[in-house]
Amino acid sequence: MAHHTGAILQRDGKTFAVVTRVPAGTVTPEALETLAAVARKYKVSMVKLTSGQRFTLIGIPEKDLASVYKDLGPLAEKETAPCVKYVQTCLGTDVCKYGVQDSMELGRELEKRYHDTSFPAKLKFGVSGCLRCCGESYVRDVGLVGTTKGWTVIFGGNSGRRPSIGTVVAENLSRDDALDLVHRLVEYYRNNASPKERTARFLERIGFERLKSELLSLLPYIPLEGVR
Ligand code: SF4
Repeated sequence: MAHHTGAILQRDGKTFAVVTRVPAGTVTPEALETLAAVARKYKVSMVKLTSGQRFTLIGIPEKDLASVYKDLGPLAEKETAPCVKYVQTCLGTDVCKYGVQDSMELGRELEKRYHDTSFPAKLKFGVSGCLRCCGESYVRDVGLVGTTKGWTVIFGGNSGRRPSIGTVVAENLSRDDALDLVHRLVEYYRNNASPKERTARFLERIGFERLKSELLSLLPYIPLEGVR
């Protein structure tokens, strides 16, 4: 349960966890030092790396929440409304020998664009720089996978209680077309989904044919025969 500050009530019913925002899963030494200083100052019981590449400071009493947020500054994430939980990003061409697309750059761009946007339900992105898919793109609300021909865009994946493999929406897109398509998909979702409806359930409810006729068939960079 989220506190009004954005912290998350823990299992003990008394203490809270504060989550950090770590774009593309990368941190500077200075940010790590801030994190360590805050963890020491407030004697947090545990610092946990989440599956979404974020740090969580666990075991913070309510009285300390405001000052923890203040001390963390821009590192702190406040989860007060359904929003982008994270952009999970693999190493890509920056570092990985298998990378064929720059996943970290795209992941940072997505983070920047949607960080402050509210959605009907939480939204997770997964960006992978090659078909090995270390960014788990097929089980994220919006997934991108780099190939030698460009970006594949996937929508409606979920790894939760009812897992769903996302639907491939388009392939072989340039970076800019992929970003345009992601924008149109998430706006369509924002405008048509019910409150708390994740993308997987949304796509199940409306059906891919409706998405195709109302959105995908209107986009010049998706050949009609390429829409599945
Ligand atoms: S998905 Fe490909 S580019 Fe990204 S880390 Fe895995 S192997 Fe490397």
